[in-house]
Amino acid sequence: MVSKYRGVDLDAVTCLDVGHAWVETFYGRAQSGVLKGVVARVVVCDRCDSEKAEHLSWDGRVISRRYFSEPAYIENARALSDDVHDRKRALREARAERFKAAEKRRK
Ligand SMILES: [Zn+2]
Repeated sequence: MVSKYRGVDLDAVTCLDVGHAWVETFYGRAQSGVLKGVVARVVVCDRCDSEKAEHLSWDGRVISRRYFSEPAYIENARALSDDVHDRKRALREARAERFKAAEKRRK
């Protein structure tokens, strides 16, 4: 069942609230750019396909970080609200409503 709230497919923005499910797809030396040769990694979210690229120091510090989210993901998130905290709250509110409706059906 696809649950929608304010026209948004909530499964598509679940990562907003619970965080992304990152899976490493690349770990090695950066092949180009001003940080060429520095250790880099790319992780992709198993749920929403967002991507995160980082350059790392040998002692694990993050030198740079860039996110690449699916346009549909961003569009859905913004449809919930312009405010990031309100987006998460709207998602939880919709989930609570879904829960209440399911609970009512069981009675
Ligand atoms: Zn995600």
